[in-house]
Amino acid sequence: MSLKCPFCQSAEIVMIEMNQQSSSALAQVISPATLGALGASVAKSFNLPPLVGGVAGTVIGGLINAVTDQPTRSHQSLCYCQGCTQRFPSSLLH
Ligand SMILES: [Zn+2]
Repeated sequence: MSLKCPFCQSAEIVMIEMNQQSSSALAQVISPATLGALGASVAKSFNLPPLVGGVAGTVIGGLINAVTDQPTRSHQSLCYCQGCTQRFPSSLLH
């Protein structure tokens, strides 16, 4: 291992895998369950069976998730320096 901390030049680097928190929060907002409930309430206001709106909302939510999930599932590798306790992206090492 030739990893060196960019701050203190220490070689005591530990790799940490981080999930992207910000994007998963967005995915929770537009989850199929949320859109299903939304679709059901919309269908109610149009005098449609709630089941129709629920199914439509769930399908749309699934499509949105299929589109938005792909890029947001990228993991960011973080490094933790035991020498100076700094955290930094692994891209700084290259
Ligand atoms: Zn360091």
